[in-house]
Amino acid sequence: MDAAHTLDFPRLLEAAEAAARATAGQGRVADYIPALAEADPESFGMAVATVDGELYGVGDWRRPFSVQSISKLFTLALALSHGGDELWRGVGREPSGNPFNSLVQLESEHGIPRNPFINAGALVVTDRLLSLTGDAAGAVREFLRRESGNDQLDTDAAVAASEAAHGHRNAALAHFIASHDNLRNPVEDVLEHYYAHCAIATSCRDLVLAGSFLARYGVRTDGSRLMTRSEAKRVNSVLLTCGTYDAAGEFAYRVGLPGKSGVGGGILAIIPGRAAVCAWGPRLDRAGNSVAAVAALDSLTTLSGYSVF
Ligand code: GLU
Repeated sequence: MDAAHTLDFPRLLEAAEAAARATAGQGRVADYIPALAEADPESFGMAVATVDGELYGVGDWRRPFSVQSISKLFTLALALSHGGDELWRGVGREPSGNPFNSLVQLESEHGIPRNPFINAGALVVTDRLLSLTGDAAGAVREFLRRESGNDQLDTDAAVAASEAAHGHRNAALAHFIASHDNLRNPVEDVLEHYYAHCAIATSCRDLVLAGSFLARYGVRTDGSRLMTRSEAKRVNSVLLTCGTYDAAGEFAYRVGLPGKSGVGGGILAIIPGRAAVCAWGPRLDRAGNSVAAVAALDSLTTLSGYSVF
């Protein structure tokens, strides 16, 4: 494999954009959160941040979009960095084989969600981060601002309000988890912080910088360590097996990288030891992954030969 700096990233990004544009018209913009339906379906952006500090982008790579479930990568990393392995007593790390907002499994598994990236698991992680920091959504915003250098980055209050107004499934999940004594904070507080971190507006540019600590095996952009190398390996492992909804097998097959998707249409993927990559296009496939972003990442790893395999 070539060293990251010998790759022609501008050319690779151009090819990835062409692959993404070829999917035009496929998939649907998420509308179960009404505010998300306002996204322009034809937008596309992609960015790469290498571990050496190089930054590349194409298309709408600086345009903010709703981070949604990509925030779950950061809540997990921050909860682990503050609280360590204790987290795993309340949430598992196996693929769920069910849709991200499913209630079914939670009943038979006594309120312990399968993994931190389905909504039920993310609610438990948000709860723990709230106990550890006093402000779970604030901790995520602060981390994203610091790593990206973008002080303007913030929660989109209209999206958060739209999520809360239509969040019956998330409220049901949270109450069910609480009925099994697996939340330490009031359900209302956990939901408020969960919606606030999902509704952060950010861009491919900001996300590759903020996610690059996983490409550097736990080291932040300022050189300080967020987590041990072993913890970073574990977060990447859970991303690979559980990060792209009920299609993580298909994503691993096509892209071959750990990654986290969100219903805002973004996917943040990690090339350990090399780079963080983020692609964004609002049209989603049936599992909830962006059609354009998967095609773009598929192109990038195929043409560059970069993957974890
Ligand atoms: N806030 C969204 C929800 O709770 C996140 C979904 C997602 O991006 O997977 O439904």
